[in-house]
Amino acid sequence: MSAIQGARVAMNADQLRVAVRALLASGVLPDGRPDRTWGGRGADFSCAVCSAAVGSEELEIEAYFGSQVYHLHTECFMTWQEERQRG
Ligand SMILES: [Zn+2]
Repeated sequence: MSAIQGARVAMNADQLRVAVRALLASGVLPDGRPDRTWGGRGADFSCAVCSAAVGSEELEIEAYFGSQVYHLHTECFMTWQEERQRG
């Protein structure tokens, strides 16, 4: 869990995996490794996986692919990376 607080994710772990697989299959989420990632407090961006806003009391991960930036809950990011590596 994050040092700030647990991410308030709208889905349970199984639902998250299903959502991530669908987003990977449709190409909405890249299946490569991010150029870089950044963690910080949320800024009410919609999470790229679960669509819920990442509030300022939560930890947000920013994943950079070139000029494209994805804002995610920590848990959503972890699920994405696990599923991406699973192939
Ligand atoms: Zn999320």
